[in-house]
Amino acid sequence: MSKNGHDNIKRFMRGLIKRNPGEPEFHQAVHEVAESLLPFIREHREYRRARILERMTEPDRIVIFRVTWEDDRGRFRANRAWRVQFNNSIGPYKGGLRFHPKVNLSVLKFLGFEQTFKNSLTGLPIGGAKGGSNFNPKGKSDREVMRFCQSLMLELHRHIGDDIDVPAGDIGVGRREISYLFGQFKRLQNRFAGILTGKGLSFGGSLIRTEATGYGSVYFMEKMLAHRGEDLEGKTCVVSGSGNVALYTIEKLSQLGARVVAASDSGGFVHDPQGIRDEKLEWLKSLKEARRGRISEYAEEFGCDYHAGKRPWGVRCDLAFPSATQNEIRGDDAKALLDNGLLGLSEGANMPSTVEAQRRFHAARILFGPAKAANAGGVAVSALEQSQNALRISWSRDEVDSRLREIMKNIHEKCVRYGEEDDGYVDYVRGANIGGFVKVADAMLAYGVV
Ligand code: NDP
Repeated sequence: MSKNGHDNIKRFMRGLIKRNPGEPEFHQAVHEVAESLLPFIREHREYRRARILERMTEPDRIVIFRVTWEDDRGRFRANRAWRVQFNNSIGPYKGGLRFHPKVNLSVLKFLGFEQTFKNSLTGLPIGGAKGGSNFNPKGKSDREVMRFCQSLMLELHRHIGDDIDVPAGDIGVGRREISYLFGQFKRLQNRFAGILTGKGLSFGGSLIRTEATGYGSVYFMEKMLAHRGEDLEGKTCVVSGSGNVALYTIEKLSQLGARVVAASDSGGFVHDPQGIRDEKLEWLKSLKEARRGRISEYAEEFGCDYHAGKRPWGVRCDLAFPSATQNEIRGDDAKALLDNGLLGLSEGANMPSTVEAQRRFHAARILFGPAKAANAGGVAVSALEQSQNALRISWSRDEVDSRLREIMKNIHEKCVRYGEEDDGYVDYVRGANIGGFVKVADAMLAYGVV
């Protein structure tokens, strides 16, 4: 990039940081997008004149509220919750709710901003949002989680709706939490509407929604490999996390002939050279989904190594699937992966690679699937759940899965269209950023000064 180009980015970021002080995750997410987009915007006078990127980095609105609830010992508890409605230019707001003690406005703004591009990439009519609370569901009883969810919905229901904003799950918000939230919404508004996705199958949920983000991340990797004349068969893989995204990434990888040798949680990682598959995977699913146990128990059960307090990136692999949380692959982790011959990486989690890690992957010209493309399968099937709710029908597993595959294929094609270089190398980060930007930006141009 020219000196002028770098100066432009610096100037843009200085303004953004001044307007949004103390929000490092948000700055990081915008910086990554600005690096790809500012050169593109310079070539398109209409976007520059309408100050599209300045407007797209400012959320439409943010709702902040207190959630008061009572724990099992009768003590009053108070948490903070947010809903960041980022951009509804191409459809109603859509994006997950995260419950985690480290949730703050910076994290939710980064996630909402990314969500706008991701949702646009799916080709479906959905705008971008994110929300959540600093509530920690770990160690809480079901009744406590229920009381918290009901109290949160008491305020949130005023701001969401099937044509307004349709939240889903994310870290700490799974089927149990979505069910409590939906039950409370229904009670408050006395109507049965698709105002949340990730619902149970008996009350409007979609088949494949649970699996969608993990499956989609693997389908995206499949497409990147195919573009280079390779496939998944026999590849050794490392997955981080053992939550919703990670479990179904592992499942799809093993169905397609790859071998997953590591998985983790916030306590550490397990290394199973034989592969996490079949009955071992079923055991892990039941440990995590039903019993809410720790990954160290997998090592005890199957007699493999457990590395407490460590991330799994030192384990030799062909393919990596970070599927836990943001900034979980740092520069030295990226170096370790590359030194071990990494061929490709698909970001199941949101922004799992730090700026330094991304630079290293880019320099090594590996297949690098950025989150907004690679993990878009979850929100895509959420949008399919909205369509089924609106039509009051349910599609079969095969129907939803084949739509998901098609959507991931289209996202891959968009990335190639905007990211392929003269020598055939695809810069998927640039491809996804520009591919996601154009549709939203064109809608904003059409609306005039709004
Ligand atoms: P879950 O809560 O189901 O699982 C999260 C997993 O990551 C758990 O294994 C958790 O371990 C681990 N983890 C969380 N925080 C940390 C940390 N600081 N260090 C190490 N491990 C950690 O969440 P999901 O699987 O739903 O989400 C994972 C990622 O995927 C997030 O970045 C999310 O935004 C992204 N995503 C999710 C989508 C979805 O459909 N669910 C859609 C698109 C993106 P522990 O149990 O010990 O906390």
